[in-house]
Amino acid sequence: MSKQRKSLNMFHLPAKVIKDRYRLCPKCGNFAHFSLEQFYCVVCGTKMIEECKRCKEPIIYPTSKFCPICGENYGNSNPT
Ligand SMILES: [Zn+2]
Ligand SMILES: [Zn+2]
Repeated sequence: MSKQRKSLNMFHLPAKVIKDRYRLCPKCGNFAHFSLEQFYCVVCGTKMIEECKRCKEPIIYPTSKFCPICGENYGNSNPT
């Protein structure tokens, strides 16, 4: 007789929270959820970024302008 406490688990989320990922447009700040597979900005046509250029940290805050780990500017359009 195995009695499982399923109801308890619903109130105790796992300690490791699964992070959502987003893609960001470095030019206009538009964003899309990672699962949408939107590789180019639908607003301005710029290639979206999906991680920090410097430390490769995934983008988990869709409205962020800077990397929370290393401070890299997401919108830094590299001048050639
Ligand atoms: Zn854009
Ligand atoms: Zn970074």
